[in-house]
Order: sequence, then C-alpha cells, then structure tokens
Amino acid sequence: MIPSILPTYNRAPLTFVKGEGSWLIEADGRRFLDMGAGIAVNALGHAHPALVAALTAQAQDLWHTSNLYNIPAQQDLADRLVEATFADTVFFTNSGTEACELAVKMARRHFFDAGQPERTDIIAFEGSFHGRSAAAIAAAGSEKMTTGFGPLLPGFVHLPWGNHDALHAAITDTTAAILIEPVQGEGGIRPLPDVCLKGLRDLCDERGILLILDEVQCGMGRTGRLFAHEWAGVAPDIMMVAKGIGGGFPLGAVLATEHAASAMVAGTHGSTYGGNPLACAVGLAVMDEIVNEEFLDDVRARAGNMRQRLEALVAGHPDVFEEVRGSGLMLGLKCKAPNLDVLNACYDQMLCAVPAADNVLRLLPPLNITEADMAEACARLGRAAEAVSSS
Ligand SMILES: *Cc1c(COP(=O)(O)O)cnc(C)c1O
Repeated sequence: MIPSILPTYNRAPLTFVKGEGSWLIEADGRRFLDMGAGIAVNALGHAHPALVAALTAQAQDLWHTSNLYNIPAQQDLADRLVEATFADTVFFTNSGTEACELAVKMARRHFFDAGQPERTDIIAFEGSFHGRSAAAIAAAGSEKMTTGFGPLLPGFVHLPWGNHDALHAAITDTTAAILIEPVQGEGGIRPLPDVCLKGLRDLCDERGILLILDEVQCGMGRTGRLFAHEWAGVAPDIMMVAKGIGGGFPLGAVLATEHAASAMVAGTHGSTYGGNPLACAVGLAVMDEIVNEEFLDDVRARAGNMRQRLEALVAGHPDVFEEVRGSGLMLGLKCKAPNLDVLNACYDQMLCAVPAADNVLRLLPPLNITEADMAEACARLGRAAEAVSSS
C-alpha cells in the first residue's frame, strides 16, 4: 500500500524535533551535528534569535496579502538585494525551481521583445541541478530526473562540463542563454574555475546571449562571498537564488539586470505567495547578518580552517576518501568507499551530511558554525571513516 506521504524520498530513520545553532536534537534526545543545514538552507543555523524574532514579529502583524498590494518587507528586501549585487530588479519566489521557471521565461521573453523570437534555446551542463519542475528537469536534462516525464519542455541543449569546443559550437542563431551553477551542488561539489566563468561572460557578450547563473546552493555567502560569481569578478544577466536566502523559511528570487528583465511587464509572470510578508521579514533578517564584510571574512576564515581539517582527514583515511573539493563552506569529500556507506557511518556518529552525485559526501554547515563545532565535526568524520575502513 502506498504510504500516506508519497514515497519520493529515501529518508534516513531520523526524526529531528529541535534545532540549536549547528545542532539537531533527535526525538530520542541524541544531539546530531548538522553539517547539511537542510541542504545549504539553514545558513545561520537553527533557531537563530534574529530570525525567530523577525518571523514572530511579522506573524503578529500580517501573514499574507497577495501581490495585489504593496508589501513593505518585499520592497525593502528587493532594495537591499539590488544594492548588494549586480541586479537592477528582483522577483521573489518560494523555491529554487520557481526561480528556474522565471529565469527561463525571462530569457525567452527578452529575445522575443528584442525582435529575435527564434532565440529560445538555453545551453545547460551535464551534472547540473536546477529543481524539479517540468522546466527545471528539462533544463538539467539528467535521465534520473526526466525518465517517464516526457514530452520534456523543448529548447535545452546539454553539454559536458568543461568542454570549450563543444560550447563554442553549440551557440547558434537560436541560442538565448547559457545556464550554469558556479559551483555544482547535487552534481558533486564541482566549482567552475574563475577563468571559465570569465570566459563564459565574454562568450555571452560576444555572441549577444544572456548568462544565467544558478546560485540557489552556492549563493548567500556559502562560498565566502555574497554570491559565488563575485570570485571571478564578473556578473550574470539573470541569477536564481533560494535556499540560504530564507535561512530556513521558503524564499527564492530571480535577480536580473534591467537589460535582461525589461520585457517582463505587468501580467507576464506572477506568484500568489512569492515575496510574502513572512518570507521577506525573515529574508531581511538574513541579509542583516550575512551582507557585511566582517561576516563574510569570518566565513572565509572558517572555510580555511575546515578545509585544512578535511585535508588532514582525507590524508589519514586514504582508503575511504579521495579528495576535498569545493569553495568556502560548500565542501565535498570525494569518497573511495561508497558515499552512502560513509553517510550511514556519519549518522552512527551523530553527524548529518548530504550525499551528492559522483560519490561525494557534501558538507554544508551553517555559515556561522563555531570553531569548536567544526573540530567536533571532523572528529566525528574521522570516527565514521574508521568504522568504514574496518567494516
Ligand atoms: C536546490 C536547488 C534548486 C532547486 O531549489 P528548490 O527550492 O528545491 O526548488 C535549484 N538549483 C540548485 C543549484 C539547487 O541546489
């Protein structure tokens, strides 16, 4: 008999009932160190006092009005994002996949409005992940996500990761945009080298197409910059954001330049819940914490510390791990042993991590994790690795 929850997830037999900073408390009282942070969502850990205060204060006043009216917190959050980034304008969604939907629509509408309606194709990359909506699975194109769901939305071209010749050849008169994650998350924590992102920007400019970055996982301070593309010193035309931007409350966004977005006039897109007062109140509190150089400096310092510890871990367990990958606090342990075996050993040590493709175990701790918690995480990872080696 089908379970009452549609069984699309293989869940670990764990039930968390409370969170405190980088810790999750199981129903049986055990304390787990959370190096997954809800898949890079709880950027400030669990139950951050400023986020709790923002949400409860807004909950007392007003939950929902729809976008038929002005929403002050949404206006403030859009202004803050515009001020802090390349973007001129923002549309709020509830998730990353909804941000993908709009990014695709925006790119197509841009060329429609510019008198080039034949430019509808979006070039995307193998191993990418953009969400689970019909457009997002077509965009990523992996068999695992698309099998049985056809006919897929047409207009996506898939290229291998890092093949320059294939990329140059793939751009034609029907190309609208290139869509890419600056650091692939689900694909196995694969950072795009800065020179490649610069090269993509130049290529888009030369060929008159748009660059769409999916920073749903790597954005909001995760790599030690507010957005990952800042490391390369270039900016996209359109950017998808979600996960960390709401710190655990459902919130996503599409950020864009005026050039890319100007065809999206009244009536071309909408969302009942997108940019609702609760989500935006929390989003503002997240911005207050993350958008300052001191915080991002600390993220970079923590990332350096964590990386050093992980390099030592890998060196100490060469039969279990192959290498450390990633950027900032978006880290991956490429495993030699099956990553799910390592993950289960981590659960035994009361540590949460997240598997990814390419036999990688992702470590995506809260950005404000303490040094003591990082040391404890690496001690638990070490014990997990020992258990895997000796099994
Ligand atoms: C998680 C993720 C998405 C989808 O976000 P949802 O909120 O789950 O819809 C899209 N792109 C990337 C890179 C992601 O990591």
